[in-house]
Amino acid sequence: AAPLSRLALGVQPSPTLEMNRRAAELARLGRDIIPLSLGEPDFHTPEFVKATGMAAIERNFTKYTAADGTADLKEALADKLQRHNSIAVRPEDVVVGGGAKILLVAALLTILDVGDEVIVPAPYWTSYPELITLAGGQPVIIDAEVDDGFKLTPECLRAKIGPRTRALVFNSPVNPTGAVYSRSEIDALASVLREHPDVWVVTDELYEHIYFTDERPASFVAVATDLAGRIITVNGFSKGYCMTGWRLGFAAGPRAVMRPIASLLGQIQGAPSSIAQAAGLAALTGDQTFLEINRQTFRERRDVLVSGLSRIDGLRPHLPDGSFYCFVDCSRWLGSRTARGRLLTSDKDVVDALLNEAEISSVHGAAFGRSPFIRLSFALGVDRIRLGLDRLAKFRETMR
Ligand code: PLP
Repeated sequence: AAPLSRLALGVQPSPTLEMNRRAAELARLGRDIIPLSLGEPDFHTPEFVKATGMAAIERNFTKYTAADGTADLKEALADKLQRHNSIAVRPEDVVVGGGAKILLVAALLTILDVGDEVIVPAPYWTSYPELITLAGGQPVIIDAEVDDGFKLTPECLRAKIGPRTRALVFNSPVNPTGAVYSRSEIDALASVLREHPDVWVVTDELYEHIYFTDERPASFVAVATDLAGRIITVNGFSKGYCMTGWRLGFAAGPRAVMRPIASLLGQIQGAPSSIAQAAGLAALTGDQTFLEINRQTFRERRDVLVSGLSRIDGLRPHLPDGSFYCFVDCSRWLGSRTARGRLLTSDKDVVDALLNEAEISSVHGAAFGRSPFIRLSFALGVDRIRLGLDRLAKFRETMR
């Protein structure tokens, strides 16, 4: 074949999507896999949201919309950001796109030149380093310690930030650790950023509705309002609104960056789905009680999973304050052999063995920049979680 680009040759498939693919393949072969690798709520899209999407098709709302989103949706989003997140933005400073992912890429492409450094606290969502590299940037990983709740500290940020730093990618609640930054923790990071006026903050708040703290997670810009001129807030409908397959996300920030983001997306994506936008508008403006019901359900599942895991010899789960993931230290399992004689030398080995010998899918910590850990999702029913825990316990008992 004719040659491919260097960019294409360098790009890695998403390890989480890859694990879900492997698990789905085994399930198709009739194996009953417990999907603890899931990255989406098992809840269906709320009925009224689905009905609005169907009605949009019926009334032929099926054409291109404005490339950066419909006026109605942008207005509702500006209102949501103001009311819910204390972020003052006008509808013109909101851009709608086909999921948070494409908005993250567009934001990075808009602020990075080749070789610019972007700080990413680890453990991180698996796609950040890849997306930064695609946008020509250089990821600079800062390890957040378990003793700091897996959160970036101002001291570590100060030590790594420099003249080539162009952005910090911030995420709270964090995928994969479930860490939620408090207002004072965000404020401490903002103090460091004040010393570096050329550094952007790209803040990914996709899990904002899934939290177990007393207070809802704070938005970065709501704490650091004086830095609003260099903060891009990215969010979407996938997790809180259970709309992963609809592909709908949004970003907001200062006009000087949001207009180029809109132009860029207009060129490479075009308008996001008209149908998804109609449904998203309903999701935002309709009855919100499902958010609280889902949150309480996630909390119960979290408690079942974490207490079960802490009873399994050698596993040390980190209690998540948000998201639907538990990040589990599996270092004490390394050096042992599974019932089938496989030597566990890394978290990748653990994940592979769990899939093949215990029929559990999970994701290895290395995919999130921290080993030896595994990420277990609790986006599935309590009965399935309990079955998964039984299998994990049995796997441990038969290890040698
Ligand atoms: N950001 C984080 C932290 C995620 O976990 C995900 C999805 O797993 C995304 C962004 C992408 O979300 P979307 O489905 O809106 O593209």
